[in-house]
Amino acid sequence: MKIGVLKETKERENRVALSPEVIKLLVKKEFEVLVEEGAGNASYFSDAEYISAGANVVKAQEVFGSDILLKVNLFTLAEIDQMQAGTACISIMYAYNHPDVLDAMNKKSITSFSMDAVPRISRAQKMDSLSSQANLAGYKSVIMGANHLGKIFPLMMTASGTITPSKVLIFGAGVAGLQAIATAKRLGAIVEVSDVRPETKEQVESLGGRFLIVEGAETVKVEGGYAAEVSEEFLKKQKELIQSKIKESDLVITTALVMGKKSPILVTEEMVKTMKKGAVIVDMAVESGGNCEISEKDKTVVKHGVTIIGESNLPSLLPTNASQLYATNISTLLLHLANKDGFNLDLEEEITKGVLITYQGETVHEFTKKILN
Ligand code: NAD
Repeated sequence: MKIGVLKETKERENRVALSPEVIKLLVKKEFEVLVEEGAGNASYFSDAEYISAGANVVKAQEVFGSDILLKVNLFTLAEIDQMQAGTACISIMYAYNHPDVLDAMNKKSITSFSMDAVPRISRAQKMDSLSSQANLAGYKSVIMGANHLGKIFPLMMTASGTITPSKVLIFGAGVAGLQAIATAKRLGAIVEVSDVRPETKEQVESLGGRFLIVEGAETVKVEGGYAAEVSEEFLKKQKELIQSKIKESDLVITTALVMGKKSPILVTEEMVKTMKKGAVIVDMAVESGGNCEISEKDKTVVKHGVTIIGESNLPSLLPTNASQLYATNISTLLLHLANKDGFNLDLEEEITKGVLITYQGETVHEFTKKILN
């Protein structure tokens, strides 16, 4: 079985689907691995490292001859054009947003598996690239935010005076939020956190954050570890709480996500106007509409004296680690689906069923079909 790794073509993407370390493991399991020339350059993995790991470094055209193609980002229409009929591929697809790509794949009977569709169950943790990437993104959001602040994070007592610690306000204590809390605490900030899921209180406190309780609001519906539905009443009460807290904050990091829905607006323009001059907002949810009303995708803007960062691909700014973890995620999924002799798909098995998007000329993924219809 021949595995092909293509160079990412998306703008501002520095990651690559496989690292040399992971290729060593795959070669040991008797897979043949082809890597496009220069595919790892932006992650600081050289062609020479891939070759010594046991891969063949070749031109893109040759990679397209593989049985299975691996990427970080969705395959483009131009790439699908170059695939042979019946090829399989794995990448982060967000398939329900790309019916044109699914049509093109189905026309060529491309079997596709999507990394963002890996079910959040313990047996699939090692394949969970949304978590591995969000974890790194949470770290980077704090570092970027801190870099734009005109202040330091920790309390500092010096002969020239005492500097009080910065205040960081974090929305959402999921994967990204928890890492942001840990990072901001390590740097010495005072950290306050709001989440709609009450069970996150304990996790927030164990990292040294203060959990903000939205008094008198109904509890929120949770499905499979994700917030599934948040009532208007909760959002109204939460807004009042945010309004009072945001005025004092130096750095605000927003990571609020409700599965399959547009991100909730938690920070309005009116709230930004009440913030301290020089404060910073990092809107991590900018890709899915944003938690801040006036953030702009892939831009850092200053509005009402507040710097608002809308970087949609934070993991790409840590490409070495991000590729290293992604390579583990994607290779673990690959080994779940195939061995050196080919695929052995059990279409009823939870993980396989969860990630299989197109198969034998049809879109078979239930969630994707539901959203597209
Ligand atoms: P997650 O599902 O693990 O966490 C999201 C959290 O938001 C959950 O704990 C949920 O309960 C909470 N939430 C929902 N509504 C809320 C509200 N009104 N107030 C407060 N909390 C609320 O998701 P994650 O993996 O941590 O990702 C978080 C966000 O960051 C997502 O929008 C994701 O797309 C984004 N992300 C961005 C980047 C980037 O580079 N910008 C990278 C990775 C993830």
